[in-house]
Amino acid sequence: MQFSSRERQKLARLAGDRREQYPHSLQFYLEPPTESISLVEFESFAIDRLKLLKVVENLGVSYIRGTDTYKTKLEVELRKLKFPYRALSEDDYEARRKDHISHFILRLAYCQSEDLRRWFLQQEMDLFRYRFNELTGSLMQKFLGHVNLSFEAIGEDLKNELANELSASTPGFSLSKVKEQMFYKVGLADAVDLFRARRVFIKDGFAYVPFKEIDVIVLNNYRTKLSKALALTARSLPSIQSDERLQPLLNHLSHSYIGPDYSIQKNTGKISLEQIDALSVKSFPLCMRQLHRALRDSHHLRHGGRMQYGLFLKGIGLTLEQALEFWKKEFIRGKVDADKFDKGYAYSIRHNYGKEGKRTDYTPYSCMKIIMSNPPSQGDYHGCPFRHSDPELLKQKLQSYKIPPSGVTQILELVKGMHYQLACQKYFELTHDVDDIGFSLNHPNQYFTESQKLLSGGRELKKELNNSGNVQQKNNSQESINSSSTPTSSNATADAELEGLEAYFTED
Ligand code: SF4
Repeated sequence: MQFSSRERQKLARLAGDRREQYPHSLQFYLEPPTESISLVEFESFAIDRLKLLKVVENLGVSYIRGTDTYKTKLEVELRKLKFPYRALSEDDYEARRKDHISHFILRLAYCQSEDLRRWFLQQEMDLFRYRFNELTGSLMQKFLGHVNLSFEAIGEDLKNELANELSASTPGFSLSKVKEQMFYKVGLADAVDLFRARRVFIKDGFAYVPFKEIDVIVLNNYRTKLSKALALTARSLPSIQSDERLQPLLNHLSHSYIGPDYSIQKNTGKISLEQIDALSVKSFPLCMRQLHRALRDSHHLRHGGRMQYGLFLKGIGLTLEQALEFWKKEFIRGKVDADKFDKGYAYSIRHNYGKEGKRTDYTPYSCMKIIMSNPPSQGDYHGCPFRHSDPELLKQKLQSYKIPPSGVTQILELVKGMHYQLACQKYFELTHDVDDIGFSLNHPNQYFTESQKLLSGGRELKKELNNSGNVQQKNNSQESINSSSTPTSSNATADAELEGLEAYFTED
């Protein structure tokens, strides 16, 4: 019999595979993987899991967990990314292996700070909840046995004896429902949440938990195990950090987003400096709008701001010559004279464009990088306003941009839940007057490109905005009036120029 090389590869792997490691597609991830894998596989597994967890985060905010739409969308994604989507199939060894290995890689990448740990834990919990609830009754039992959570189901005699108490102490359980459902005797320590919420009957140090609530217990157990494991992994970080191959990869993953890097600008040279004020109001995300405003107001930005904003501008198409002119014009309005600018600041701008030093062509920062690294201090304007601004200041800023009160509340709720990129998506929807952003936001330059596409594609929308004196347009004038240093172009001129520009962004 002849085998293709792909089949041979697969057979070889299967010969040494570890099927016995994965008796279920659902895992508690108690044992780290021990096999050798290539760096290519390492990276592709990790990126796929990151994509999956991002989807979990998005769905968790957009839909009620456990609803049909939520489940269908998540299943589609699991299938697409080739992760186990239903704990039934016997032949999903590859998917189980990928699930196992990718979880541990991201555990390494996301144990590095409190923020990262919290985010990872939340998404993994949601993923686990979905998968566990998709199990059939018998598979659930099998899984519980496998992870040593075999709770004892109480017999019919005891259930009849306790029927009144069970019905009275378990919300939604009539006497007839008590008779139908299986109840488990669970140690109190495992059922603290249900006990606190007064949702179970307690007797002699045991909680009597109906089958439909068993997921709360299992999830609690999983949460405890995973948070401990993350803390332990964080402690072993120094040894990982000494690995020259792994560390850049792990750092990249925790700051990473999955999409284009915006370092190749097909729109280079298509933007004029006069358009930037109008663009900053219409199409910049809040982080860049804040930096632009601060630059116009104080004619200066500190290093973190210059890097974040300078690379963003490069990503939207500013050439090196334009960047030098843009920054110089603004800086010499402040305390820096032309000579000092040429000697000091011009170097770092050329550096960003790969013309100095190591000649690296620097990439604009992704949201994760902005959110997770280099938090702003007093006097800095870089960072992500959804992550780094005081909520009260953020509220004032959003109000001043004429975001309606209900929108401000929604954004602040998302910020409170630490869904910063989703808060930014909401800001996009509100400032572009659309119900659904239609993409998953990961990068400030992506925000810009999508905004331009939308504005150029939506002629009617644009007209509507102009007629109704849209919030952004109003705000645009407001900002221009407030700024004595805004370059001379009028809004009308800038708008006319933007019409031409927007066409470029519809092309991709
Ligand atoms: Fe900028 Fe991203 Fe924060 Fe939006 S979520 S403000 S694009 S860093």
